[in-house]
Amino acid sequence: MSICVLAPEVVSKIAAGEVVERPASVVKELMENSLDAGASQINIEVRGGGVNFIRVSDNGVGIFQGEAELAFYRYATSKIASLADLENTTSLGFRGEALPSIAQVAQVELLTRSKEEISGTYLCLREGKVVERGARANPQGTTVTVRNLFRNVPARLKFLKSSTTENSQITDLVSQYSLAFPGVRFNLIIDGRRVLHTPGNGKLRDVLVQVYGLETAQAMLEIGKSSREGGLAPVVSGYISPPSLSRANRSYLSFFVNQRWIQSRLMARAVEKAYEGLLMAGRHPIAVINLSLLPQWVDVNVHPTKREIRFSQEPIIFNTVYGTVRRTLVERVPVPEVSLSPHPVFTPEQQPLEGPSDGKKPGFVLPLIPHVAPSGLPVLRVLGQLGNTYIIAEGPDGLYLIDQHAAHERILFDKILAQQAKEGVESQSLLEPLTIELSLRQEELLRARQEILARFGFVIEPFGERTYLLRAVPAILAGQGIEEPVKEALDSLEDDADPAEREEKLTASLACHGAIRAGQILSQEEMRELVKQMEKVTSPRTCPHGRPTMIHLSSGLLEKEFGRI
Ligand code: ADP
Ligand code: MG
Repeated sequence: MSICVLAPEVVSKIAAGEVVERPASVVKELMENSLDAGASQINIEVRGGGVNFIRVSDNGVGIFQGEAELAFYRYATSKIASLADLENTTSLGFRGEALPSIAQVAQVELLTRSKEEISGTYLCLREGKVVERGARANPQGTTVTVRNLFRNVPARLKFLKSSTTENSQITDLVSQYSLAFPGVRFNLIIDGRRVLHTPGNGKLRDVLVQVYGLETAQAMLEIGKSSREGGLAPVVSGYISPPSLSRANRSYLSFFVNQRWIQSRLMARAVEKAYEGLLMAGRHPIAVINLSLLPQWVDVNVHPTKREIRFSQEPIIFNTVYGTVRRTLVERVPVPEVSLSPHPVFTPEQQPLEGPSDGKKPGFVLPLIPHVAPSGLPVLRVLGQLGNTYIIAEGPDGLYLIDQHAAHERILFDKILAQQAKEGVESQSLLEPLTIELSLRQEELLRARQEILARFGFVIEPFGERTYLLRAVPAILAGQGIEEPVKEALDSLEDDADPAEREEKLTASLACHGAIRAGQILSQEEMRELVKQMEKVTSPRTCPHGRPTMIHLSSGLLEKEFGRI
């Protein structure tokens, strides 16, 4: 189709709006144009967080010389011509807004050649106006170069995050598109560094290797292989993680509808439901899922960025996604049995009551000397452990059940914060450096958050493609499986929020991994020590996530329950 300006009645029906919010939006729009042009290779080069320089070049169909200027008119598009087309559109773009919007806020150069033409077309625009045009040699395809983004919109420039944040947004964006289009070779270069390179051989697993690392990619399970294509029903395909592989947040869920990267609460809920009973609370799967369906089933014209969409048949979509994922999990993974703790409460070898050290029989006589620790917690006497998870203690006013994991988490959280306020978090070198494999996103976080990671005692060095050498970790993590905690520490730094919040999340993540687990048998001595430390913390009654660390059954309540009063 040739490029035409849309009729006003079509324009009024499209969810127009600001599409150029930040550098990543420019990359998104240009990359979508390349994909719509049928490119099999797309190179993306970015400098200075995208503000200085963005160049996207492709080997797609190119633009005819006579239409190149028209492409920069508002609402000029070759992708739809009428309202009827809008309903059936399968292209990523259709509003004819991106190029003119970008040209308004940056200096833009276009170099393009269609297959049918011998020489290419060159255009240079300033503030949306063509200032130079000409014929230039160019291989078939299109290259758009964007310089000095937002220089004429200082308010927008001020609003942008650091270039590392913008870079990681761009990296994430290109990774997602490369997952959606395994048949396209993507090449992303940031400040001269090759960040992502996909083979474009059509194999999604090979793209997963580039985005998530070899180990993760190999562990992932393929879904929807057997579903027949070509019917009217939606078809689900992609990869999901086995339950043994999970993440602490939902940012590893990628959803595509007809290869369009979307945000979908519905699909996220369907996937998480399929994992019900297979993952621990607070854990989330990794999933890359594409839903192919008739364009009429979905309205992409809801939001300017087109990342939010509307399904016309929500229950069918939900069930199809849920069903496909669940089936794969059940077929491929034995469902684990729920195992109750083999240790009954108060076994003979576990002293139920703390006995006096003189060997006399333990008794219930309470040393009721009212004493309150600085934490506001009364001095507690440990009686025993319940279900290897809770510490039973008594205080001057009744019984306390303490969640050993939550309590220890709180202690460690305070400890790390205190160290951090002084000379930094205590670090421990590993005797043998550990090789770890990071996802692309984690890699970017490692680069972007070097300073905070060093302050928290991490020493991590590059060691080849996607692999790193872990040389030192916060002392709190030492002596246990550290690979997962380190990855999660990185994930916890993802937040764009203010640095203080990031520090707190990292601290909470470390505290959680360093803390004793539920189900771990503790000696009397260990429990006494834990309770003693609890007395010193500032908010002993809640864990860093805000959950209670202890339940108090007051003497009054006990008396009432036993009908004594
Ligand atoms: P839209 O993608 O919504 O049509 P754009 O402003 O992004 O609007 O692009 C306008 C038109 O310019 C497109 O419809 C397409 O015809 C042409 N175009 C833009 N980028 C490319 C490209 N990389 N290759 C071929 N044609 C392109
Ligand atoms: Mg477009």
